[in-house]
Amino acid sequence: MASKGQLKLLTDFLNIPDVKVTHFVQDTSLGKILSVASLTSEVACPHCGQMSQKIHSYYSHLIKDLPMNGQNVYLQVNKRKMKCENCLKILALRYLSC
Ligand SMILES: [Zn+2]
Repeated sequence: MASKGQLKLLTDFLNIPDVKVTHFVQDTSLGKILSVASLTSEVACPHCGQMSQKIHSYYSHLIKDLPMNGQNVYLQVNKRKMKCENCLKILALRYLSC
């Protein structure tokens, strides 16, 4: 398990705005897996403009990144769906668009 200092270093190394590394695993078959999450806790509803912090659900994707030291690197992107408290629409929090 990576220390907080190592996670901070990996976050700085990735250099993706508003994204932090939350977990690191060295998988024997896949390679390095970095779990990342957004630092954004609030999103503007594109339908009514209201800001919302209400989380509807979580889901994740595994994305292959560029190799590091000859090993495969994957980003496990943990995304959230938010729910607008005003118009009740479900909003996808988008980052790391791929
Ligand atoms: Zn709304």
